[in-house]
Order: sequence, then C-alpha cells, then structure tokens
Amino acid sequence: MQEIADPILLRALVGDVRARGGTIGLVPTLGALHAGHLALANAARTENSLVVMSIFVNPTQFGAGEDFNRYPRNLPRDRSLAAEAGVDVLFVPSAETMYPDGPAGQLVWVDPGALAVHGEGAARPSHFRAVATVVAKLFHLVQPDRAYFGQKDGQQAAIVRQMVRDLLLPVEIRVIPTVREHDGLALSSRNVYLSPAERAAAPVLARALGVARAAVAAGEREAETLRRLVRETVDDEPPVDLEYAEVFDLAGLAPVTGTLPAESMVALAARVGGTRLIDNLVIRLQNGEPSFD
Ligand code: AMP
Repeated sequence: MQEIADPILLRALVGDVRARGGTIGLVPTLGALHAGHLALANAARTENSLVVMSIFVNPTQFGAGEDFNRYPRNLPRDRSLAAEAGVDVLFVPSAETMYPDGPAGQLVWVDPGALAVHGEGAARPSHFRAVATVVAKLFHLVQPDRAYFGQKDGQQAAIVRQMVRDLLLPVEIRVIPTVREHDGLALSSRNVYLSPAERAAAPVLARALGVARAAVAAGEREAETLRRLVRETVDDEPPVDLEYAEVFDLAGLAPVTGTLPAESMVALAARVGGTRLIDNLVIRLQNGEPSFD
C-alpha cells in the first residue's frame, strides 16, 4: 500500500491506472477505521483495479462545540487496517491541500438544499454543505469510477447520490449496509467515547429501529406510529436522550406525513452521555410487501 499526501502524485498514479484500462474505487473516511469502513474497502476491492481510501478529518463539517479536536486519530493503526483490507493507496491530504485559503477562506460551497433541512441537517447546520463540498473535492482529486458510502449515514449517502446526479459527476455511488456489533449497535468511530454503562445502553437505538421494523412487517404503514414507537423505545432507556426520531421519504428527504411511500428511512439521533449517535432503517414497499436495509 502506498501512502500519498500530494494530489499531483495521486493524479499521476490514477491516470496511469486509467490509461491501462483499470478502474478506481474511492472510500472517503475520517479515519479511526473500524469494520464498517473495512466493509466499504472490501466492496471497493472486489469491483475495482485500484482502491483509494482517503483519510481526512474535515474541519468544516464539525459544528462549533462538536468533537473536531478530540475526534479519534490513529494513523499507524489505520495504515495497517487499510493495508490488510487490500487498499492500494491511502490518500492523506493536508488541510492546506483541501482548503488552500484556509477553511474560512473557502467561498464557494456545494449546497444540498432541501435535502439538508431535516434530521441531521436540522441538528447540525452547515454539516451537509461541508460534507458535499469535501466529497466533491475528493472526487475531483481522485477521479474515481465508483465511490463507497455507508448506509449508517443514510442522509449523507442520499445527499451524495443527488449531488452526483445534479452536478453530472461521472462517479457511481455504492451504498454498503450498516455493519453492527453483536448487540445491534452500529459501528462508529465515536463508540470509543462511551463508558461501559453508556455502551450497555447504546444498543437501544438499533432496538428502537427493530421495533419499527417489526411493526411494518406486521402491517403498520403510518409514519407517525413509527416515530412514536421509536420515541417510546428510546425513552425506556433513561441514559439515552433522544434528539429526534424521523421518517423520511427517500425521494427528497422530506418528513413523511401519513402513510409510508415506496422508499422511506426511519432515522434517529440520540445522546448517550456526552456522545451523539445516529442510526437508521430503510423501508422499501413493493406491491405492499416490505423489505428492509
Ligand atoms: P466516517 O469516517 O465516519 O466519515 O465514515 C466513512 C464512511 O464509512 C461513511 O461512508 C460512513 O457511512 C461509513 N460507515 C461508518 N460506519 C459504518 C458502519 N457501521 N457500517 C457501514 N458503513 C459505515
């Protein structure tokens, strides 16, 4: 595995692979790798000749008072995990590469519009604008054929898909199912913040989605009932403080009022002590029959 910080070197290498008819898969991450990231790398490995994983803790996507400074960083560990997963190139751009005039000097942004109004967008103003912008930069630098995102960050994946469509970016977006611990807790770099007691309480997020899923499997179709079931389940676990429970129409990411559309996503965010966790469940209805991601 090569480690590259210089975008000019990266472009030369990618150009070489493409000239020989190869394809390039990109896995963008913030580092602090876990099995969720590695599932993305594995998928990229099976589908491309060159796998590039980027590690960049993007300052602009963290809000004031969020965990940018204490976000877990461990490049030596990430290096060996990425190499084991078959990553060919670890792209570790500097902040100066990504923000030539500094984050405050960046004047042009990718605006995800209505897709960023609800859910995580409401809780974290300007987060998705920063994510869409940094992903667009990575796409320009790496020029991948395919890019890999996790369903864990469902709203992010939907926004990236729409960005690629609206901006005519020649990248295929692949969304990989959420990788979970044995008790259902979605893997997250932020799980390391949890105390043992918080870790024991945290699976209630996945459990609440399981309750919603069981209700849909049993015939429930009212979004408001699903929101209530998720709320009630999380409220039964006092150390976990629900921030929101929402049901989105996957087409447009507006909250669903009334019955479920063809594709929807039940999403929630909660605070477990000082740690903010998110999770979601995708519901697809075909001829009235549900399936889930
Ligand atoms: P992050 O480093 O947290 O920005 O995550 C990088 C990519 O890995 C994003 O596309 C995430 O959605 C994805 N990811 C994070 N956690 C998981 C997980 N538990 N399962 C699948 N993908 C994940």
